[in-house]
Amino acid sequence: MVRETKLYDLLGVSPSADDTQIKKAYRKAALKYHPDKNPSKEASEKFKELTVAYEVLSDSQKREIYDQYGEEGLAGGGAGAGGFGGGFGGFGEDIFSQFFGGGSSRPRGPQRGRDIKHEMSATLEELYKGRTAKLALNKQILCKSCEGRGGKEGAVKKCSSCNGVGVKFVTRQMGPMIQRFQTECDVCNGTGDIIDPKDRCKACNGKKIANERKILEVHIEPGMKDGQKIVFEGEADQAPNVIPGDVVFVVTQKPHKIFERKGDNLYCDIEVDLLSAIAGGEFAIEHLSGEWLKVSIVPGEVISPGLTKVIDGKGMPVQKYGGYGNLIVKFKINFPENHFADEESLKKLEQILPPRTKPVIPSNAEVEECVLSDYDPHKHSGKSSYGRGQSYDSDEEEQAGGAEGVQCASQ
Ligand SMILES: [Zn+2]
Ligand SMILES: [Zn+2]
Repeated sequence: MVRETKLYDLLGVSPSADDTQIKKAYRKAALKYHPDKNPSKEASEKFKELTVAYEVLSDSQKREIYDQYGEEGLAGGGAGAGGFGGGFGGFGEDIFSQFFGGGSSRPRGPQRGRDIKHEMSATLEELYKGRTAKLALNKQILCKSCEGRGGKEGAVKKCSSCNGVGVKFVTRQMGPMIQRFQTECDVCNGTGDIIDPKDRCKACNGKKIANERKILEVHIEPGMKDGQKIVFEGEADQAPNVIPGDVVFVVTQKPHKIFERKGDNLYCDIEVDLLSAIAGGEFAIEHLSGEWLKVSIVPGEVISPGLTKVIDGKGMPVQKYGGYGNLIVKFKINFPENHFADEESLKKLEQILPPRTKPVIPSNAEVEECVLSDYDPHKHSGKSSYGRGQSYDSDEEEQAGGAEGVQCASQ
């Protein structure tokens, strides 16, 4: 286990220093850096750091936590860790006044509880139109009968065994390592309080908390994006001396069968027939809005395979700013089947379509006549033994065949 020693280093003491040494070190450093003595910004920062270090190391509970978990252990805490008071930062003057006279220490603010995160999956249609979902949340609340005290006012005493923290530390030697474990206080059963049974709250039996089922209305606004958060402030579990955390819903977008979304734009593939692609026609798209978009291809406009076009304003709604993104369509052209027309009819195409492009072959080149056959991915993968020993006509095929094919051909 690597022990964090930053706070000891700040005070310039060894991690094995005793309370007196820590106190002396802080007093010496604080006198040097206190804003009253040293008004520079650096000194003020340093003073804050020193005070944080002292705050932790002078408190046996906090020092144990720091030794075991480092600063993270102190910063986290909250309800789950037993509600250690204080937290990290935001003090300084109190401690100084304890040392050098002045007022008494002000009670430190409560810690903030953990946030509760939920995934909120939504279809693209829901993100387009918006949706309100009612979700039941089972949460822990402060007992309403005793207002979270656990008993009659004044009847609740701090447990002296654990100093009101609810946990104790036990040390155990495991081989060469000494490990410290946190266990629930057996005197107060982890509550940190001692309540006379006759004064104990009947509703919560002294536990201070109760369970509540609450319905949250989660509004998915039109245009919300994947990963966006919907936050219900302070709706997470309540606990004594803890500021409740937030309930956070994270929107996750389900994949859509037609559209892909990028930002506020939508993308989809459109298939059109050859005649529509070259002589005009129309196609339709079932939109997220629920309506169908009927789109014309104007005669004269040529849609080639892979062409990308835009339908303005038919993308996703833009949250907050209003308006819509665009719909971007990419075309796939469905060509007719083999022998869709007889030779006589095909000749007519020559009168309409631009003339054929004649291949350009250098006049001195050796020319071999070839024919096309159907492609079979199994036979023509380039990896099987099929096709070995045949000559290759194009560079592409030779590359696909690889060294193996060439070697076999030469045998
Ligand atoms: Zn109660
Ligand atoms: Zn206790």
